[in-house]
Amino acid sequence: MHRFPLQQYLKSTHGACSRPARSFSAAVLIMTTLLWPFAMGGHEAHGQGAKPSGAAKDEGTKTSKPVSTKPAERDKKRPAAPVPPAVRDYSSRNFLMHTDLPPDEAKDLLTRLETMLGLISKYWGKPNRTTIEMYVVKDLAIWPPGSIEPRGLASIEGGAGVTLGQTAFLGTEAVDAKAIVYSVADRGTPQHEAVHAYCLLNFGRTGPIWYSEGMAEMGQYWKDKDFSVSIHPVVFDYLKSSPPKSLDEIIAPGQTTGDSWQNYAWRWALCHLLANNTNYAARFRPLGLSLLSSKPGSFELTYGPAAKEINFEYQFFLKHLEQGFRADLCSWDWNTKAVTVKGTASVQSKIDAKKGWQASRLLAKEGETYQFTPTGTWKLTAEGEAISPASTEGETGRLAGVLFNDYELSEPFVIDIAQGWTAPSDGALYLRCQEGWGALQDNTGTVTVKIKRAAENSRESGIKEASKP
Ligand SMILES: [Zn+2]
Repeated sequence: MHRFPLQQYLKSTHGACSRPARSFSAAVLIMTTLLWPFAMGGHEAHGQGAKPSGAAKDEGTKTSKPVSTKPAERDKKRPAAPVPPAVRDYSSRNFLMHTDLPPDEAKDLLTRLETMLGLISKYWGKPNRTTIEMYVVKDLAIWPPGSIEPRGLASIEGGAGVTLGQTAFLGTEAVDAKAIVYSVADRGTPQHEAVHAYCLLNFGRTGPIWYSEGMAEMGQYWKDKDFSVSIHPVVFDYLKSSPPKSLDEIIAPGQTTGDSWQNYAWRWALCHLLANNTNYAARFRPLGLSLLSSKPGSFELTYGPAAKEINFEYQFFLKHLEQGFRADLCSWDWNTKAVTVKGTASVQSKIDAKKGWQASRLLAKEGETYQFTPTGTWKLTAEGEAISPASTEGETGRLAGVLFNDYELSEPFVIDIAQGWTAPSDGALYLRCQEGWGALQDNTGTVTVKIKRAAENSRESGIKEASKP
């Protein structure tokens, strides 16, 4: 799997962000250089949309290790001397960066870029083969006239970024490539563009727009060994407040790069889900590699047979999206069969506190009352108190249920263990530990839940029932 860095993203404070009316300055661009010894088969430009305005204001984090230490060590001894703003060059293993960022911020960015590059090259299985050159601009006024390529300049003036590249092909195989990134110095754009540059340089292509831009958006958020959702608050609010864009719309052909940050948000959502959900992740990586190859597969070919399932999980993901949501832990269980229980028969399941809805194995019948017997406890944080799902203090930590019927879910409910539960409709019952969707991943413990019909139980313990007033 893949993770990208975003270490300090959420720690940086964003002011009240208003969604920008501006959209993109970067359109599809064509390189015209004739220096290439091969037939020029492809030219690509990838724009990164102007970000929500808050994104441009968070260059303040300075916690990473410096990439090159000499000036930094000097700075430590003389902290009072401010470095005059100027365009400087910084290099690291895979990057050459021209920027007017202050040295500590430039080094912090290089460190983040290197970390991300390590993660994406592991994900795509190809080490980066050549230096990625980047122009990262904080204040255009500092840059001498003519020092930035006009198409890059236009993108930067629009508050965005663009990757200009060209690929040399022999037949359909990419044999060489060049890529230069032009980007504003906000938190996410340089990393987004660096993903495009990596793909261009190492595959000669970046894939169809939905994949190319969705993966580049993921690039700015990916963290090592962290699968949780952690996105820009404005992007988050937009996804939460908008009617879901259909999968067909997201993957539709004929889209252009740099259309709008809102479209990028949907592409991110689809790529994040497919890359993390355990039902689809194993097919997503090879699909991506084929999209980056000369014989591309397609979303429809890969996932067509599971279209209903993917659509259900995509809608579910958007509905329950929270910062901290774990698509891998909330993957739907399509395999466990639900059965009706008759007489004194029962079904049993193990419910993991940190996972989303899990199959109880019960096929509930409308109007039937069921008795639940949970065994065990769980915790809402690693060090928290052990809680029984039968606890009656508040709703958090109790056993919650939802009914699944023909790809539709009922409203969820908290189960009263003492009173039993009467099914409001037919459906397969799914269970989980009641807590916010963004807060599940640190939970521990599993509870075994046995379910049987309460009616049979009442008849067996008829004396007890009769003695009640
Ligand atoms: Zn892009």
